[in-house]
Amino acid sequence: MLTRAGLAPAGHRASQKGPGPLTIGAFSAVLIGSSMLKPTSKPSAASRKGQSVRALRGTVFVTRQVHFNAAHRLHNPTKSARWNAEKYGLCNNPRWHGHNYVLEVTVAGEPDPETGYLFDLGELKNLLEERIVKPCDHRNLNEEVPFLRDVIPSTENLVIAFWQELEPRIPRGRLHSIKLYETPRNYAEYRGPHPSL
Ligand SMILES: [Zn+2]
Repeated sequence: MLTRAGLAPAGHRASQKGPGPLTIGAFSAVLIGSSMLKPTSKPSAASRKGQSVRALRGTVFVTRQVHFNAAHRLHNPTKSARWNAEKYGLCNNPRWHGHNYVLEVTVAGEPDPETGYLFDLGELKNLLEERIVKPCDHRNLNEEVPFLRDVIPSTENLVIAFWQELEPRIPRGRLHSIKLYETPRNYAEYRGPHPSL
């Protein structure tokens, strides 16, 4: 099992600037509502040889960040060449163009009282590698990714498609958001079909 320290890519440090808040390497956690973080009235844990641990309760948002490079073309084949050129401009280039995508996936839930983790980050890392990075990295998103077939690969559509790939497979807690940076300045975020605003 990978440790949290083991998940940080080589060269990544807490001081390194990333697009998301509180990013430490590829992992970040945000606590929401300090009032929610009160100790349980009775320490719920296990005593062993006179030792005990105290479970803390609160909803935590844990984020894993991954990167991939991919080519695409924004093009609606049901419309004319002129319509596509007007709507998409350079992004309609028939010979494709590429992006260095940064994907942030946030899962919400309460820490497990026995581990203090929301879940094993190694599991989330493996899930993102398997379902998103492996099918998309160094690929043509229009032509080579089965779950994007017939989808216009805009950032908006990609976050919805990624949600549909990941949501049923989240190991523990619930998927809270998918954020995809197409450039350092442009990103789209999806919080599921029924977001709590
Ligand atoms: Zn593009």
